[in-house]
This record gives sequence, structure tokens and C-alpha cells, in this order.
Amino acid sequence: MKLYNSLTRQKDEFIPHEPGKVSMYTCGPTVYHFAHIGNLRSYIMEDVLERYLRYAGYDVTRVMNITDVGHLSSDGDTGEDKMLKGAKREKKTVLEIAKFYTDAFFEDCKALNIKTPDVVQPATGCIDEFIHTITVLLEKGYAYEAGGNIYFDTSKLKQYYVFNDFEEEDLAVGVREGVEADSNKRNKADFVLWFTKSKFDDQELKWDSPFGLGYPGWHIECSCISMKYLGEYLDIHCGGIDNAFPHHTNEIAQSEAYIGHEWCKYWFHVHHLNTNSGKMSKSKGEFLTVSLLKEKGYDPLVYRFFCLQSHYRKGLVFSYENLDNAATAYKKLVARIASLLPEGKKSSVDAAKLAEIKKTFADAMDNDLNTSLAVTALYDVLKADANAATKLQAIADMDTVLQLNLLSAAESATEPQKEENGLDAQLVAWIEERIAARANAKKQKNYAEADAIRAELLASGIEITDTKDGVKYKKI
Ligand code: AMP
Ligand code: ZN
Repeated sequence: MKLYNSLTRQKDEFIPHEPGKVSMYTCGPTVYHFAHIGNLRSYIMEDVLERYLRYAGYDVTRVMNITDVGHLSSDGDTGEDKMLKGAKREKKTVLEIAKFYTDAFFEDCKALNIKTPDVVQPATGCIDEFIHTITVLLEKGYAYEAGGNIYFDTSKLKQYYVFNDFEEEDLAVGVREGVEADSNKRNKADFVLWFTKSKFDDQELKWDSPFGLGYPGWHIECSCISMKYLGEYLDIHCGGIDNAFPHHTNEIAQSEAYIGHEWCKYWFHVHHLNTNSGKMSKSKGEFLTVSLLKEKGYDPLVYRFFCLQSHYRKGLVFSYENLDNAATAYKKLVARIASLLPEGKKSSVDAAKLAEIKKTFADAMDNDLNTSLAVTALYDVLKADANAATKLQAIADMDTVLQLNLLSAAESATEPQKEENGLDAQLVAWIEERIAARANAKKQKNYAEADAIRAELLASGIEITDTKDGVKYKKI
């Protein structure tokens, strides 16, 4: 499999450190608010990567942190701790906020068929590990104390800016965020490992340490949690593209300084979900959640389908119009699969054909996780010269990775209506497809087209009625 690696800036052949095994680390959410659907785009694509590696036969161990301390309002060392901000907003304690939004995050993940990683570790549960690593960094001369805080000294590294070709000046945190530089820092790019002093001294959670009563910086948590569970050689590190700098850059700096050799070989970054007014972000206050999509009547898996239709290394623009198109396409796809069900029960799987049609899917995924082509491969299955059982098996296999519940949706699309109306599945699939097309026409205010579809159905002996529970149909 080839994967784009942000570190080498090219598609690299994926070769894990230990043959057959993959260690994978994902930066988890900062649990001071609901995850927005942009965050969840990253987690969906990371989930697809994990599932595809498993599909390809690897034994994967995946670890995720939960950021419940240390992530300041800027991604650098300025501003208030996001958790504290959330707690104040809701007049609760930091731990109450953390528990509430962690549970909400995993509920969203469940609705989107995102598998829970093998290990999920809140940062507040690993304070001893952070203290140990910081102690070693101080002993090795990679860290220093200034003004009560412990800083990582980036000048001790051969190369600090590992992910990009930008001018160091442009990327230095103080400059980038347009805020006052921290005069304790020896170099602009240095970052905090442990805070005992900050402008915001009402920090709720603090721990004793050899460096004083305080709390860890955000970056150290991912290095330590990853190494605690996955050891000194990490195969894949994932996150959204905004994490590449400074978060992942700092993770690499401190991890490699600590272990003394290369740490993680492949860096997988998912590009952003944007709206017409720019990147969707929690701190902007206005953002879309899975619950909101559900309230508006969307199946969360339609959002997953929408994400899979694009490549993870391209920005994706969210609009309801785009989501509606995905909903229509999903419904049509399900209807076409449903139409295979009756024949599928009568035929049996042709193993040679199955392997042949699944190859297009694997080729797409092996090429830097091209889910957009993988979705096309699903449509190719429908057109393939194969019997229905073989097609259904191919779709079931692909769906272990794509996780769109295609077969169960197809079953439920036909079953109740079939019983109710006594119509065969193929006819039901066609009717559903026409009803979806009519809904789409109405949404685009193309009422002539909507009426034409109603007439077309009527000419085939099907009468439709709009009800508060959706469109009903019956044979006349
Ligand atoms: P956070 O909860 O802010 O720590 O972010 C959780 C994950 O979502 C990180 O991997 C971020 O890089 C990622 N992320 C943040 N905003 C977006 C966005 N608009 N689109 C895709 N991923 C995002
Ligand atoms: Zn991280």
C-alpha cells in the first residue's frame, strides 16, 4: 500500500516496523465542546485507514488520547486552557466537562460507524509519565527552566521544522498567532512542557512535580501516551492537517530527543472540512454537529458517505446542497443493492469473480487511501458481469472498510414496503429511486420535473401520497 507521508512529502510504500503489525496513534479530541463534523471528517478518514489496514491483513493496535488538560486557546503556549474555558462557560468542573464531552464524542463516533481505538487514554491519567519524560529531557539538556515553566529547547535539534518548507519566522508561534512573544523562551519556536506560571493562574487541575505545582503542556501528552502503549517505534501517526504545526512538529522534537532515534515513520494528515466562510472550528463558536444533522433528518452515515466521496488530502466544502446530493446518491445506491437481494438469495458466490471485482477496490485503497475511487468501485460492482450473490458478497466485503451499512439499509429499504404492498423488491427499488429523484427535484424547485415523476409512477400503476412521515406509495 502507498500512503502519502507528510514527513517525506511523497507517497511512500507502507512498510511497518514489525512485519504484519501496525502501531497507530491518533490525536484525540479536546473535550471542552462537542466535536464538529470537521473534526469528525478526520476521525472518519482515520477509521477507514485503520479498517483498511485490518482488511489488508495487518494486526493493528490503535491508541488515542483524550485532551482534558493543557490545550491552550492558541495551539501554542498562549491563552487560557480550553478545558477551563469550557467549564466556566457551563458552570461545571473541568472533569465534569471532560466526561460529558468524551461521552458525546463516542456517541457521535458510534453514529458514524467509527470504531473506538484499542486504547483511549485521557491525558490527566498519565501525569507521572509526562513528569518522567520531562525529567529525562532536562537531564539530556533538551529542556530548560525559565520563569517557573519548563521549555523545550528547539535550538538543540538538527532540524525542527520537519513538515514544511516555510520560513521559520512565519511559523514561530508568537508571530503566527499575532500575540505577544513569551520572553522566557530562548528561541521563538521553543514550547512549554510544564507550566507552573501562566497569566491564567486559576487553572483548576494542578499536580505536584519536581518542577513545581502545575500542569503539562499539550504536546507532551501525545508523545508520552503513544510511547506508553506503542513503544519507541510508531508506524502511523494521524491527525488533522492543522495539527502538523506546531503540535506534531513538537511531538517529534520531544519524542526523538527522549528516545534518541527516529520515532514515527508515516504521518497521515487529513485536510479540513470547510464551509463557504472558511475552516470549521470549535473556537469560532458556530459549528455543525452530528446531532444537528440528525435533527435535520439526515442519517449520519450519509455524512460518512459524503466524506468518503472525496480524497482525504483535499479540502472538502460542506454545504447542505452537497449533503443532499450525497443523501440522494446513497439512497440510489442502496436501492440498486436492494434490487439484487431476491436473486442473490438464489445464486451462489463465484469466488474467482469475487476476487476479480474486489481488486479494483483494493487498487483504489492501496493508492493513498483513495476512497473516492473506492466508492466508484462500489458502482462498478453493480455493473459487473457477475451474479447477484457475488456482487452482494463484494459489496459486503468492501463495506467492512467503508462502513456504510449498505446491506442492512438495502434489506430495510425493501422489507417493510414489500410486505405492506406485496410488490417485488426490484419494483420497490425502482419506486424508491424515483421518489428520491422527485424529492431532489422539489428541493431544486423544479416542480415540473417532480410532477413528471409522479405521472411516470402513476403510468406504472403506482400512486404516491405525501404524508408527514414521508412519501407513501401503493399499487392501484
Ligand atoms: P481538537 O478537538 O480541536 O483537538 O481536534 C480534533 C481533531 O480534529 C484534530 O485531529 C484536528 O486536527 C481535527 N480538525 C480540526 N478542525 C478540523 C476541520 N475543520 N476539518 C477536519 N479536521 C479538523
Ligand atoms: Zn496529539
